[in-house]
Amino acid sequence: MRSTKDYRIDPLSCAYCAKCHSVCPTYEATGNEGFAARGKILLASAMRGDFSSLPPSLFGDPRDNGAVDWRDSRELNEFLNFCLRCYRCLEVCPSMIATVPIFEAMRFEVARKHPPPWYMRWLMRSVLAERGNTRLLAEMGAFPFSLLPWAAKRVRINDRLRSALAKRSRDHPISTLGARSPTLFLGKTEFPLPASALARGRAYDYIRNHQNVAQPERGTIGYFLDCLTDIHFPSAFAGTVRLLNSLGFRVDVEFKSPCCGASALNTGDEQAFEKMARSYAKTFADAPYSRVLFTNPTCYKTVKERYSEILADKELARLPEPVLDVELYNELPAPPIHPAWTDLSIAWHNPCTLGYALGDKTTAISVLQKWGLRMHEFPDVEGCCGYGGMFYLRYPEFAAEQSARKLKAWQDAGIDLALTCSAGCIGHINATAIREKIPIPIIHWGELG
Ligand code: SF4
Ligand code: SF4
Repeated sequence: MRSTKDYRIDPLSCAYCAKCHSVCPTYEATGNEGFAARGKILLASAMRGDFSSLPPSLFGDPRDNGAVDWRDSRELNEFLNFCLRCYRCLEVCPSMIATVPIFEAMRFEVARKHPPPWYMRWLMRSVLAERGNTRLLAEMGAFPFSLLPWAAKRVRINDRLRSALAKRSRDHPISTLGARSPTLFLGKTEFPLPASALARGRAYDYIRNHQNVAQPERGTIGYFLDCLTDIHFPSAFAGTVRLLNSLGFRVDVEFKSPCCGASALNTGDEQAFEKMARSYAKTFADAPYSRVLFTNPTCYKTVKERYSEILADKELARLPEPVLDVELYNELPAPPIHPAWTDLSIAWHNPCTLGYALGDKTTAISVLQKWGLRMHEFPDVEGCCGYGGMFYLRYPEFAAEQSARKLKAWQDAGIDLALTCSAGCIGHINATAIREKIPIPIIHWGELG
């Protein structure tokens, strides 16, 4: 796997322009350079022993740091953890320093010396790397709340959305809006609850037995069912399959796929990442389709860009080409969308991986306009909702502030419903909507199918 040695990390190549400061939400909140990209890049140099290049402003006199092993530094861990991986620094850096990938390599280097705690290793290697175990744990987690439904809070539905749902519900019995994102709050921390096994079973049944493919057929496409969508939003993947069926695709869903490995990159568990990548390769090798659809840009980016660090060229050649839903929908005509959706004022939340890491801020909105929806644009609240993988669990208050800004802007503009293409953002934004009592739910755009 790549390490910090594989990146160009030269403190002298940093232009000291502070552009990464001006866009960084965590620097804005703390005023501490260690949380901005430049600070972490300088720390990466420190980890490699390039102390002579470090400016005194960050660590005091560099000569005092000569004996410090930065992998032991609690402060460094805090700098790495309190990062949303929002990729804004990557986008603005004129020196083209590979900021977020370097932070991931730093995590791996820290973890080689200080492995993650046993429960995180177990979660990554034995639960998220095996979809059957992920489902089992989710079902055990959901069970107590099926007995105590009042313990979970649910996002409110505004009147216009309620009336749109009433028009649509006969045709679409499965909907995230029906369950309204049940969320448990323990103090300031939110825990979006898994969907019931019954709801997930209905979605699987639809996919296995009821695909009704429109003519002319465009052939079969694979579908990577990401773990968050599988566990929390079965109506999103059933909706995506309906949408693809209406566009002429038969959809082949691989129900046994593991987590793509983004969770392991985020927590610094190199062994888990390798296990997940190899398991993906085994699952999808020689699949009977040439393209596999991703409905989460983080999973797409992980598979497309990072698997070459683990898999040999001949293993990669046996895999179908990853395609992101945004790019697929952009190249196709509009599917038939239920007219109830067109009555609503709709906002789009562009996930950071899509907007800043993959550099696509506009395609999704233009696709939704092509589908006949009334879209509103909000450049002033573009960017991170505060989810950031594990970030929202580690820093719940800060994460909630980010999404509350968005929700309030949507509320002021009279938005009825928000759409996105990232299951993680959905759970977090809906939790904030519940906390702030703002009746604007967010769902995956696949549910329009
Ligand atoms: S990824 Fe986002 S939060 Fe992290 S350093 Fe870059 S701008 Fe700041
Ligand atoms: S944006 Fe890039 S070049 Fe400018 S200070 Fe940050 S790391 Fe250095």
